[in-house]
Amino acid sequence: MGLIVYSCPYVPAELIVAYGLTPSRILPESTGLNGPIDVTAGVCPYMRGFVNTACTMSGVTGIILTTVCDQMRHAKDYIEQRTAIPSFLLNVPSTWQIPSVIKLYISELKRLGNFLETMGGKSPATDYLWRVMEEYTKKREKLRALRADLNAMDYSMAIAEFNRTGQIMHALPGRIAEENKVPVALIGGPLTIQDFNLFNLIRHSGGNVVLDGTESGERTMPAPFNGRRSEKDDSLLELASCYFGHIPDAFRRPNSELYKWLKREIDCRGIKGVILVRHIWCDKWHAKVPRLREWLKIPFLDVDIDGESSAIRTAGRIQAFMETVS
Ligand code: SF4
Repeated sequence: MGLIVYSCPYVPAELIVAYGLTPSRILPESTGLNGPIDVTAGVCPYMRGFVNTACTMSGVTGIILTTVCDQMRHAKDYIEQRTAIPSFLLNVPSTWQIPSVIKLYISELKRLGNFLETMGGKSPATDYLWRVMEEYTKKREKLRALRADLNAMDYSMAIAEFNRTGQIMHALPGRIAEENKVPVALIGGPLTIQDFNLFNLIRHSGGNVVLDGTESGERTMPAPFNGRRSEKDDSLLELASCYFGHIPDAFRRPNSELYKWLKREIDCRGIKGVILVRHIWCDKWHAKVPRLREWLKIPFLDVDIDGESSAIRTAGRIQAFMETVS
């Protein structure tokens, strides 16, 4: 089955499966320069890592980008101009409060369906998409249940593996008690696999990540689907409601749902400090720094990372921050 690679949480894996293709929402190993993007100035390191990874993986049939940030729009240009791999840009509206917007997102899913057909996919029979959605809901229930049994880094890795393969990892390590550690949240853009070391840095500095609210963590899981109740139920509308209508993010206008979600999680998990992780050149999250600093009632640290050279500086900043949180 053709392999369709993407990074954005607003791309529903279920739709790709229903078309008979293989979805893979990947995280790059690092932000390396091997691939079509070999420049650093003005380029989000995460976007570069994603494009370079997606374009050098074997067996990739097509790549899906979305309009959630300008860097990912540019990613489409890089792929078109520097490779022969087919790509598709899904328009994800930033506004969400008026009903016509969800119709626009649904029309984009239909346009994505057309692209998937050009990739060898077949438009699914009427209730096949429902069946795929039901299967994914069951798998995600199992994935959500793992949170109680795993440390935050292992849970985020299990989420990343599920997004990449559609499978729940076996052989997961058990939870290690994190007594006397200060509970903190990570929020921000997506992490590369290398960036998962942040969890260890925080732990070595006396903290314990109890919420991974980065784009690669639990924040971006879609809501569970309501099962099909009648012949008239519209699978695309349900898919759109659970993805577009549910996932909070910094690019939404207004982004009040992100703040509501964060407040709820801070309160119920007893979080004492928030660390925003953002890749340099990520305007989407950089723009949120002043508001978060003003809005949060607990200590806040803004960390910009660039993949390689910032590691030592980041470790020092996290250590200093954890000394201020109690
Ligand atoms: S980290 Fe920010 S700029 Fe980079 S791809 Fe993600 S949202 Fe876009």
